[in-house]
Amino acid sequence: MKQRTLSIVKPDAVRAGNAGKIIAEIESHFKIVAMRKLQLTHAQAAAFYAVHAGKPFYNDLVDFMTSGPVVVMCLEGEDAISGYRRLMGATNPEKAEEGTLRKKYATSMSFNAVHGSDAPETAAVEVAFFFPGCDLI
Ligand code: ADP
Ligand code: MG
Repeated sequence: MKQRTLSIVKPDAVRAGNAGKIIAEIESHFKIVAMRKLQLTHAQAAAFYAVHAGKPFYNDLVDFMTSGPVVVMCLEGEDAISGYRRLMGATNPEKAEEGTLRKKYATSMSFNAVHGSDAPETAAVEVAFFFPGCDLI
């Protein structure tokens, strides 16, 4: 099934100069239907990760996600949601498979280079969080 999903190149990967390589790899698997570079405010990051509010890592996650620019993309493709999760690899890079973006570019569980939506419901909410319908081409 053709799906859309939200991808974020996180501040650690942008800071390290890895955004271009990550985007090129993503583009070899998915159509990029929208892309923005921006720096999240504290309120935006807190809202985006609201599902994790109250967890021990939440405050650090919000601080990290606001620590520098990110590149946000809406991706489209056959089974894009699970397919992009596979390309990202496990949340903990030590457990990520060889060849995945997190294996290559993440340095820890906290600084793990990329975000991807985890289900159709969250993908729809996350894409709409960053892109009005008119920007999705
Ligand atoms: P994923 O990004 O793989 O969907 P989660 O949704 O579980 O993972 O968590 C969101 C983000 O929060 C992770 O990508 C990571 O940056 C951070 N995170 C999750 N669990 C931890 C943890 N135990 N310690 C530190 N950071 C974490
Ligand atoms: Mg998640």
